[in-house]
Amino acid sequence: MNELTTDQVAELKQKLLSLRDELKELLSATRDGTRPVDLDEPIGRLTRMDAIQQQSMSAAARRSHNIRLAQVEQALTAIARDTYGLCRRCEDPIGHKRLEARPESPYCLDCQDEVDRKHGGG
Ligand SMILES: [Zn+2]
Repeated sequence: MNELTTDQVAELKQKLLSLRDELKELLSATRDGTRPVDLDEPIGRLTRMDAIQQQSMSAAARRSHNIRLAQVEQALTAIARDTYGLCRRCEDPIGHKRLEARPESPYCLDCQDEVDRKHGGG
């Protein structure tokens, strides 16, 4: 059923592992947007509006990083269970090309389209 070779799975697993580290790092760097102000940092370069804007941007970024991280974890679990590369919805092979671009993809292109539409795009 699965059209991925062992080598391809191993390669994608490496990508997933480094992606997971990267996302975890990003998430810990932006934790709650409440990092204590570094007193050595020059003050007054950011206006209050800038700070608010930056905070809401990082909240949105955090949400999408969190979703992506969950997908990465699920993909790694799927590799362990030998179900990686299959669409979680229709169970068709997702395809190596798509997985190379987004190794954490849980759905094939068709299902992804439908899922996106149901959630009002994005
Ligand atoms: Zn599908």
